[in-house]
Amino acid sequence: MKNAPKEACHYRTEHGRHICGLCPHGCRISAGSRGICGSRLGDEHILLADNYGKVATVNIDPLEKKPLYHFRPGEEVLSVGGWGCNMGCLHCQNNSLSMARGGGPSGRRVEAEELVAICHREGLRNLAFTYNEPTIWHEYVMDVAELADGIDLIYVTNGYINPSPRSEVLERITAMNLDVKGFSESFYREVAKADLGPVLDTAEDALESGVHLEITYLLIPGRNDDHDQLQAFCRWLSSLSPDVPVHFSAFHRDHLMQDVRDTNAEDLLRAFSLAKDSGLRFVYLGNLPVSQGRDTVCPRCGDVAVSRKGYRTDTSGMRRGACASCATALNMRL
Ligand code: SF4
Repeated sequence: MKNAPKEACHYRTEHGRHICGLCPHGCRISAGSRGICGSRLGDEHILLADNYGKVATVNIDPLEKKPLYHFRPGEEVLSVGGWGCNMGCLHCQNNSLSMARGGGPSGRRVEAEELVAICHREGLRNLAFTYNEPTIWHEYVMDVAELADGIDLIYVTNGYINPSPRSEVLERITAMNLDVKGFSESFYREVAKADLGPVLDTAEDALESGVHLEITYLLIPGRNDDHDQLQAFCRWLSSLSPDVPVHFSAFHRDHLMQDVRDTNAEDLLRAFSLAKDSGLRFVYLGNLPVSQGRDTVCPRCGDVAVSRKGYRTDTSGMRRGACASCATALNMRL
């Protein structure tokens, strides 16, 4: 029945309280109250996914905007997001959506079939769950995946999800951009109100499952950009695979973090050098105009394989996902 309340998955009920198993917070939710993410609502007998199908925004974007630079460069994607988040980042740059704690305004929801129909109508083969955290839209994403024949699903995520729902997601998606928000447990606890470990597990599992993975790291001056933290991050990523593209992105003051200066070009370039020195082969810089970190440069011969100006992409330096000059593989999914 359309618009009927949707029961949540991944929970159990004990002594009249519902214990959510979707993410590591493990919220205990009684009737009439909600979990930390705001999306799960306790009913007397069941837990509800109160945000099911409540779409806050739908846009057609370049894939580069997610950012995904090594996944079908130059193609477009249907980008969809809802309300709420299971992290509480002090600096959230999408806080008007992510901090909504009521599961989103009530009203007509966008059924899974309608979303798939939009992709077909627009001739798109890419559908991204983005803007807010897709983990808390699990039931909706699973229903969309069931119908998304010929459409590849993409997650833009904080990676804070438990192993069982994580494997359900990884079976169904093709690409992921994962936010690593810092590289210390204390940073995660203070700034994101979450733990780092499950996020790293998500990256490792994504790679093992064959999902195309790119990582974003927002550089916050004085908070997560010190040499040791950045080096530990780059070494971890390099040990997973030096071919995973990493996007260092510039912070600007937002939401509750107003006491930190904005990232400058020098900060970005320092992270770029450190990442390259750590062996990472595809390093990108975003949110500020800088001299490096836009184009895909062949790590062997140094030729530009993909050049980018704004969101315009020129792939003429690439042949079948490899460098056109020396045929070096570039970890591209076409
Ligand atoms: S998904 Fe939401 S309700 Fe469930 S454990 Fe995480 S924050 Fe709590």
